[in-house]
Amino acid sequence: MDKFKEFRLIYFMESNFLAFLLLTIFFFLPSCMKTHEQIKDKDFDTSEHTILSDSAGNEYIADRILIGYTDVARIDKIAQLLEGEIAVHIPELNVISIKIKGNIEKTISFLRSEGVKNTYGIRYAEHVYVRKIIPFETHSTVKQYPSKEQQNHEFHKRLENQLNYTGESLDFYLWGLRAINIKDAWDKEYDGKGIIVAVLDTGVDGTHPDLQGQVIEGYRPTTDMVLPAGTDSSYGGSHGTHVAGTIAAKKDGKGIIGVAPGAKIMPIVLFDNGGWYVGDDFAAKGIVWAVNNGAKVLSNSWGGAGYSQTLKDAFDYALENDVVVVAAAGNSKSIQSYQYPANYPGVIQVGAVEFNGGDYAVANFSNGSPMISVCAPGVTILSTMPQYGSIGYDRRSFIHNENGGYYGFMTGTSMATPHVSGLAALILQKFPNAKPWQVRKIIESGSLDIEIIGPDERAGYGLIQSNSLDAELPNTGGVNYQVRVTDAYGTWNVPSVSVSLIGTSETGRNIRYFAKTNKDGVAKFKSIDSGRYEVFVGGPDSRETSEGLMKIAYRKAEERQFNYNVVLKNESATSTTVRFSSQANLNLEGPITNGEIVFLDVTKLATESGYETVLPLLEDSVDFSHLSGRYIIKLRIPQPATADITVTGSMILNSFSIPITGKITENATETYIFDTYGKNSWWTIFGRL
Ligand code: CA
Repeated sequence: MDKFKEFRLIYFMESNFLAFLLLTIFFFLPSCMKTHEQIKDKDFDTSEHTILSDSAGNEYIADRILIGYTDVARIDKIAQLLEGEIAVHIPELNVISIKIKGNIEKTISFLRSEGVKNTYGIRYAEHVYVRKIIPFETHSTVKQYPSKEQQNHEFHKRLENQLNYTGESLDFYLWGLRAINIKDAWDKEYDGKGIIVAVLDTGVDGTHPDLQGQVIEGYRPTTDMVLPAGTDSSYGGSHGTHVAGTIAAKKDGKGIIGVAPGAKIMPIVLFDNGGWYVGDDFAAKGIVWAVNNGAKVLSNSWGGAGYSQTLKDAFDYALENDVVVVAAAGNSKSIQSYQYPANYPGVIQVGAVEFNGGDYAVANFSNGSPMISVCAPGVTILSTMPQYGSIGYDRRSFIHNENGGYYGFMTGTSMATPHVSGLAALILQKFPNAKPWQVRKIIESGSLDIEIIGPDERAGYGLIQSNSLDAELPNTGGVNYQVRVTDAYGTWNVPSVSVSLIGTSETGRNIRYFAKTNKDGVAKFKSIDSGRYEVFVGGPDSRETSEGLMKIAYRKAEERQFNYNVVLKNESATSTTVRFSSQANLNLEGPITNGEIVFLDVTKLATESGYETVLPLLEDSVDFSHLSGRYIIKLRIPQPATADITVTGSMILNSFSIPITGKITENATETYIFDTYGKNSWWTIFGRL
């Protein structure tokens, strides 16, 4: 222990704080962060997996595949079919992931056939994506706290002289609790009692003196292991322990205190073995476990680019079960709408606020978003760190002699998020039956408007305040909505279609929600603001691979657009169905006059009925707009060609004109008709009524 400098509080106060290393703060754990050498658990390590990239540049784990199923009795047969074994099973989401020994491309080709899908009850397949760790690099690694500016400021001098605000021995550093006036809530007996907050993170050191008694059973998805209450689960590092302390470090006069010291922490390990993301399959498993085991708030100080349907389904499962979802906006300074889970509809997205002795301001690193909800203290936040000897021990911490606990400073939207999760716990204590949107609205309406007047893309509704608890629960302002997209006949539910709701909430805020249609053709918007929206429906995305890892559309020309206006007024579920249609005409420029065009349905095996549709070529042209599906196209002639015949022409597809070509060689009777994408790239159309 002696090699770790022991700081006494008194030294802390008198040293003018020059001696303290501050943690630099990252949205995610920096890759350089190392866990304590005593880690022995090697049963799962993402770093040992081969990582590949899909056509959109998203990285995925090469030996696992997510399969949505229709019939749980057939999942073993699916595993056999793919010559793999089930890694993760999430019955609530009707999904499994399968660990595959062989080549993933070979596996995928099995799943293209509708016949195979029907036989095995496969709804869809998708990659297991990797969420990257993105270091936040704009902070220096060593900082002073408070800054000279802070020390000189009159407000801070008053702060220095004031009585111990929280009653804890490290009170001086808990500026974030003062900023949100938390004592007003505690004085009214709201401390989060009876509410479980799941910390989806790197695990939590439950042996920390300030967390003892606060950490209940948790879950480690990679090993399917229930973590006993009060134990050390900091497998992925110190981050989760820090987050947990901000939520519910205990009230005992020693160390620090959380926003909701009466709440309980449920650790869910999504960053395991030194901080590696466990994959969307294990993450979804962890989210569902938390919901099923009584968590009322999910605190997510993590995220990344890339929309995942599996994660979306998992968070929708939480919202459907009236579990509040809070997520960090990220630390890349940008105005963004692509960080997930922060930008899934219904999530309370949180930015970070700093205090420089004067006004509160949004921290320069804090991401903005059209959908940011509120912001909370997120710069130089003091909280609990794993104890020396724990798995996640982090040398950038110091021991506090009063209780022998380890503490450290961190900065980031990761630190702002648990302040909001804690406040949500207090609100749920007061209103146990509150819907997630009601919790969000009451937090938003009680927030202190900072920076631009009114809600904005950087601060949302402003800095959270405990006086949210003084308000009554709103009765209006939230709604569940969904958009279903089908082909012209309502028989093909079209996945991978982008649906945006852009408009104005009933409170006058400009709002923008985004979701994609799932494998049932449905884009869900759970627990969103009521309001007046224009709905933009577009796709399927030609840049993306999905649904059985098979492209729905190759060409921009195949994408359909549709928009309409809608007023979403009350909480009852509302739904709209959008039917796509296409116009498709194939024109050949001689010399073929008596041929026929053959359409091969790529979702069917050659032996299945309906695989082949034949239309006569009339005056060098065929209109096939009435077909719906994905087709490879051939030209067939009645007699073998006496010499090579080169065919050219154009595909008029939804008013795009695409040059096409083909060649019937001597003695042959047919050729593929294709464009620059090649003969194996099918054409996607949605029929026409
Ligand atoms: Ca304490």
